[in-house]
Amino acid sequence: MSAPQLESLYQEIILDHYRKPHHRGLRDPYEAEVHHLNPTCGDEITLRVHLDGETVADVSYEGHGCSISQASASVMTDLVIGKPIGEATAVHEEFLRLMQSKGELEPDEDVLEDAVAFAGVSRYPARIKCALLAWMAWKDATAQAVDQTGGSE
Ligand code: ZN
Repeated sequence: MSAPQLESLYQEIILDHYRKPHHRGLRDPYEAEVHHLNPTCGDEITLRVHLDGETVADVSYEGHGCSISQASASVMTDLVIGKPIGEATAVHEEFLRLMQSKGELEPDEDVLEDAVAFAGVSRYPARIKCALLAWMAWKDATAQAVDQTGGSE
């Protein structure tokens, strides 16, 4: 696929998640709820994490802001729900690496699935925070939920 074709495919994936977000809405039960802002763009997210032992049983959220921030929340929930915390954290780290790559990294589709669509965002420093907002909220809420449930270690 040529670069412009890939770019428009990526835009389509992002718009699709923006228009039809997955796992949206705040649900019970949950162990931790956080509210994160991206003041430079005006994006906001309220996010809840529900753990079942070591598994991310549910991630629910409400938010508003630009298409990148909202689509990223939708993609993130697809990637972490149902995974062990360790595995979900590894995906988070891979996404962080992609965002810090300035467009130089070939995204790993096996790990990142639809999140590969944000590869181009890493070339625009002002938008990276949009793409990372939901992931940072998830990381924060998960750490609190682990504390709440006593954790395993
Ligand atoms: Zn934004």
